[in-house]
Amino acid sequence: MRHLFLDAAMLPAGWASNVRIGIDEGAIVSVETMASKTERDERVRGVAIPGMVNAHSHAFQRAFAGLAERRGAGEDSFWTWRDAMYRAAAQLTPDLMHAIAAQLYAEMLAAGYTSVVEFHYVHHQPDGRPYEDRSAMAQALIAAADEAGIGLTLLPVLYQTSGFGGRAARDDQKRFLNSVDQLLGIIEEARGATGPQLQVGLALHSLRAVPPEALRQAVGAVRDAPMHIHVAEQIAEVDDCLAWSGRRPVEWLLDEAPVDECWCLVHATHLTESETERLARSGATVALCPTTEANLGDGLCPVEAYLRSGGTFAIGSDSHVSVDPFEELRWLEYGQRLVTRRRSLVASADDPHSGAHMWRQSLSGGARACGRPIGAIAPGARADLIIVDPDHPALLTSAGDAMLDTLVFHSAARQSLRRVMCGGEWVVTEGRHVRAETFGEAYAKAVLPLRQALA
Ligand code: ZN
Repeated sequence: MRHLFLDAAMLPAGWASNVRIGIDEGAIVSVETMASKTERDERVRGVAIPGMVNAHSHAFQRAFAGLAERRGAGEDSFWTWRDAMYRAAAQLTPDLMHAIAAQLYAEMLAAGYTSVVEFHYVHHQPDGRPYEDRSAMAQALIAAADEAGIGLTLLPVLYQTSGFGGRAARDDQKRFLNSVDQLLGIIEEARGATGPQLQVGLALHSLRAVPPEALRQAVGAVRDAPMHIHVAEQIAEVDDCLAWSGRRPVEWLLDEAPVDECWCLVHATHLTESETERLARSGATVALCPTTEANLGDGLCPVEAYLRSGGTFAIGSDSHVSVDPFEELRWLEYGQRLVTRRRSLVASADDPHSGAHMWRQSLSGGARACGRPIGAIAPGARADLIIVDPDHPALLTSAGDAMLDTLVFHSAARQSLRRVMCGGEWVVTEGRHVRAETFGEAYAKAVLPLRQALA
């Protein structure tokens, strides 16, 4: 066992100084406050906060971020963006996936994300035939997370149809398709690698991609594991679901699926008042991806009403137009401000600091969505820490919750992130991932043909 001695830390009970943390096999085993440093302790200058959870990621989209910003001949929308994204997906190989994910996960760690939930749906070769190793893509993601040193919740995604009512998949969706049994096989193989930094669950791509019978079969087979689904991201999806079933997507899901604490609904953008209340009461987490939702023109989840009803949320970087938890939270609050013309909407009367409150809430929601023991500096949790330099010019005089407010709402404060520990390993020092150069070179080489093909 080793010990860190920290100047200050954000603990579940509040901020504390002179904090001594015992770490064994990547997990926190003891936390003492107002402690005295012993000779063998590793002294860590700065303030420690728990690393953030990225509850929704499609790693390969990192290679394509920023390339879909040119106006087309017709009206641009989520759906025209999706066509362009499919052209990027068509180029993927397991090696390319590996290079992109390693680069992305290193960037996430440097930005303060210490866990990621990978919503993984590009399984096969472009014509839909499985790779010789049918888990090759999943294994590429597991290897990349391991090399970067980030905690991973891998969710192999069930995808079968291109629309409600069993509409056949398009040619450019063939790489995503599996029977329930095939997908369970991929999940089983991924579980063979499970360790303290890895969890494996299931994702249903969406109600438009998973018919009811397949949904029931898959959900019934994978119990007590994270269960994620994209839902109600776009108005067209709500309209199609209404035409198909007479019910809205979230309404349908809450009626027909055993939605509970294991579930995470991604986006949940378009909700009625009744859906908002029912969803909040279900115990599920909503994964909000504010920068991607803004980038794609999705709309805005009624977050304030959802939280008033007791809802739980996490954040995700989804398409990776931004890889920055502080920016994600800033835009979570800003979206509500722009619509309501009021301020400090996500904070509560008994936890009034907006930035600190959102950090705490998205940590606990993110931990639930991940299904791993993370999200707090406390015994039993993984040792996932961000060390902030409180003397950085952007933070001067800010301490405790006010420091977290500044980190979220003052973009220059991001440069105060000095070191990041994940699973007991220092993976970021002096603001850079320890393998940034290696990953960066491999990424540049691997991604060049894909970007040239898309240009
Ligand atoms: Zn997504």
